[in-house]
Amino acid sequence: MSSAAPHVAADFLRLAQGYLARHGVATPRLDAEVLLASVLGISRLELYARLDEPLERHEVDAYRDALRRRAAREPVAYIVGYREFYGLRMRVGPGVLIPRPETEYLVELALSSTEEAAPVRVADACTGSGAVAVAIAVRRPQACVVGTDVSEQALAFAAVNGRAHVPGGRVRWIRADGLRALAEASYDLVVSNPPYVPSGEMRALAPEIRHYEPREALDGGEDGLRTARELAREAMKVLRPGGVLIMELGTPAQARRLAAECLRAGGAYREAVAAEDPVSRVPALVARRAGEAPPGIRWPVGGGRTWP
Ligand code: GLN
Repeated sequence: MSSAAPHVAADFLRLAQGYLARHGVATPRLDAEVLLASVLGISRLELYARLDEPLERHEVDAYRDALRRRAAREPVAYIVGYREFYGLRMRVGPGVLIPRPETEYLVELALSSTEEAAPVRVADACTGSGAVAVAIAVRRPQACVVGTDVSEQALAFAAVNGRAHVPGGRVRWIRADGLRALAEASYDLVVSNPPYVPSGEMRALAPEIRHYEPREALDGGEDGLRTARELAREAMKVLRPGGVLIMELGTPAQARRLAAECLRAGGAYREAVAAEDPVSRVPALVARRAGEAPPGIRWPVGGGRTWP
């Protein structure tokens, strides 16, 4: 720290970095920059061009507030009010799970299962901020997408994100538990990023997650599969024959176990595999309801193992 009082942006950044580091923040410099850029209403890139400019009094106050929140380990996304997902800016805040970069794999699998121009019907269970539903709707301009969530707060963010990115009411939101509110045999594709953290592992999550993000979006019960299992059961009904179910999970073992359970479910699922993103290594369950695939729908994974 220089002996002179902080004056220009660079001085404040230096102080902020040290302050955040002392509070155990993993990326103190990055967060200090992102928060200052947000306070100034400019991009991080623009901030670099202003490092030797002084801050206004009200900017210093707002920056101090943001830094205090971050030092208490509140996620950056809640403080700035958004997170990028699949190249789209998603509004988030307290009460909704922040979209994770690894969940882009769920979108990739969804896109691999649907032809671009197909007028498919897609359901996203436990949609949270709506990030997955919105990203699919943006990339599949003929698709009709419905997102469900039990949380009113989450759906408020989802509605904002839908309006921002998807014109024309092609994405709708329903307050409901899982897939229960949806009509039978009427969806070509069901996707979900359900809560899948085993209850016993909740305490090991980073403070940013544990203290700030909604527990009901994370805690998947004893083996982490409570919600996922229910969704797999409900999806048998709401999927059209040949329709595809894709779910993000936490571990390959979870994905394999659920795939095995799907295949044992009285022939309702013709195929079920544990897939894994080659880059992020995030596992997913991919299953297909028995019957001939609806037009525009295809099996998204090659060379997957079927279980058992
Ligand atoms: N991957 C998330 C995390 O570790 C968990 C998200 C979920 O349960 N769906 O924070």
